[in-house]
Amino acid sequence: MRVIGVIGPKKSGKTTLICNILKKLKDMNIDVAAVKHSFHDVEVDKEGTDSYNFKLYSNVSILADNSKTVFFYNKMNLYGILSKLNNEFVIIEGFKEQLKELNIPKILMVKGDEGSELLDSQTLMMIKDYNYNIDEVVEKVLEKSIVPTYSLNCGHCGYNCKLFVEKVISGELRWNQCVMATGVEMIVDGKTIPINPFVSQIIKNTLKGIISSLKGVDNEPKNISINIKKI
Ligand code: SF4
Repeated sequence: MRVIGVIGPKKSGKTTLICNILKKLKDMNIDVAAVKHSFHDVEVDKEGTDSYNFKLYSNVSILADNSKTVFFYNKMNLYGILSKLNNEFVIIEGFKEQLKELNIPKILMVKGDEGSELLDSQTLMMIKDYNYNIDEVVEKVLEKSIVPTYSLNCGHCGYNCKLFVEKVISGELRWNQCVMATGVEMIVDGKTIPINPFVSQIIKNTLKGIISSLKGVDNEPKNISINIKKI
């Protein structure tokens, strides 16, 4: 999974830009998810609704109708939200402090000078007054989005996560030079653990070998998830 953020003041065009990027990525058959932070209460889970009542006594409540399924969790931080997703690409609107904490690069939208104070070393581009070419934006997004490093600072890339992202933005490093980009994600008791590329390769090859011999498995599976649970 690769991630990118979009931040900026109100009415700077963040949602429209995200929709334009999503459309382009979808046309490329890339599996995308969008996450938005809202400063207003989200009205779908009001007191008295079934989902609200279920949520009083459970960790997650799920509501399904004929066209959609909605999951209701308690408030989560960005790390928690990303750990629930399994899409190829995730675009995040808002969460500016958490983007910084997790070292996630972002696009900054500004209106006149409003918002330009948010420019920092992890901003991959600044768009002023809705002025952009969507093909150029998507090209940058594909080149500079990273696999979430979750500020693990494991040092395998030779830097810490903050410097790594800055070097991806400057073009000195590529996003896939982080150990988190090996395609193997290990989460132990909710905490992501970095695995070096050598161990990742062993895990990948071993699992693929075991799984390919099992009945009902495609020759080339796209995703393998194994959870070892408390019994
Ligand atoms: S390899 Fe990845 S997780 Fe480790 S320090 Fe570098 S960027 Fe961070």
